[in-house]
Amino acid sequence: MFLFPAALIKRKLQACSYSIALATFGIVSLSSLTNSNFISSEAHAADTGVVNIYSYRQPYLVKPLLEEFTKQTGIQTKVIFAKKGLIERIAAEGKLSPADVLLTVDIGRLSAAVEKGISQPVKSSVIEGNVPAKYRSAKGDWFGLTVRSRVVYASKGRVGQDAITYEELADPKWRGKICMRSGQHVYNVAMIASMIAHNGAEKTKTWLKGLKANLARKPSGNDRAQIKAVFAGQCDLAIGNTYYMGKMQTNEKKPEQKKWAASVKLLFPNTKTRGAHVNLSGMVLAKHSPNKSAAVKLMEFLSSEKAQQIYSEVNLEYPVKEGVAWSDLVKSWGEFKADDLALEKIAELRKAASLLVDETDLNNGPSS
Ligand code: FE
Repeated sequence: MFLFPAALIKRKLQACSYSIALATFGIVSLSSLTNSNFISSEAHAADTGVVNIYSYRQPYLVKPLLEEFTKQTGIQTKVIFAKKGLIERIAAEGKLSPADVLLTVDIGRLSAAVEKGISQPVKSSVIEGNVPAKYRSAKGDWFGLTVRSRVVYASKGRVGQDAITYEELADPKWRGKICMRSGQHVYNVAMIASMIAHNGAEKTKTWLKGLKANLARKPSGNDRAQIKAVFAGQCDLAIGNTYYMGKMQTNEKKPEQKKWAASVKLLFPNTKTRGAHVNLSGMVLAKHSPNKSAAVKLMEFLSSEKAQQIYSEVNLEYPVKEGVAWSDLVKSWGEFKADDLALEKIAELRKAASLLVDETDLNNGPSS
């Protein structure tokens, strides 16, 4: 992977008449997938048969998709990868931004792109035909590409039941037995927003108090750290996203994670009622996209059956397009019923969810 020297990046940015301290954006890696160069200010010209992508998603996920896109259309792609700061960067670059398409995860980040004013709506019957209405914004500001569900990882040895509900996580029978990451993490904020949508704010507040009382420890670490804690006997239930199961099951670099995965069973909550809460990975057309028609072609491609199959296979998620087969590994976790709640509704309730996390002092753990 070719890493761009900071000086070159700075020069390119200055060519766009900006003086930006890269460090403030927290960019950890900048790289290109193809043998193409860094997205340059020359890309500000009209459509060039190139799409410039700013991606929070990792190279190994995006690369096979873009190769297939270029094979099908002849359109080249250039990509900047970063773990943080891309939305802020597009905002700072303003009208001269070379960004065409932003790839990211979570409704929180998709809606943040809209709130920061870096998106523009797309009207495409192809995308609308492929992406169900619940997985895209009504105005076309963002579109889901894959679905992940936030589920319960239960100890195989210590938990007998094979079904659960989110509501039940507040039941005193789980006192001291649940592990979770920060309640303010985007994944949990969206899950709590879905609780508000279904049960109302008051009931959700009571639920959060019950959940807090049931925690084994103060929320900290990522999703996989919670599953590790179940493996280690610190808790019986952990809240986590589905794809982490696959990432642990197939982790050759850290084979100990295979043991964590083997110690748990994946329970899709609320299967008998509304279905399990889901979130998205998705895409946004940048407000000042200099290569708009090629960018929309890419977005249409990403929603297509072929791309959906590739993408969901490599990232161990579920395709948004109906009728596209799940990967064998994903299938092995069992059938799940997805909550039908529109992600746009979750986006609206995120702020209320975040306030409830503070009000109930969830992040201070069980004893406070
Ligand atoms: Fe994740």
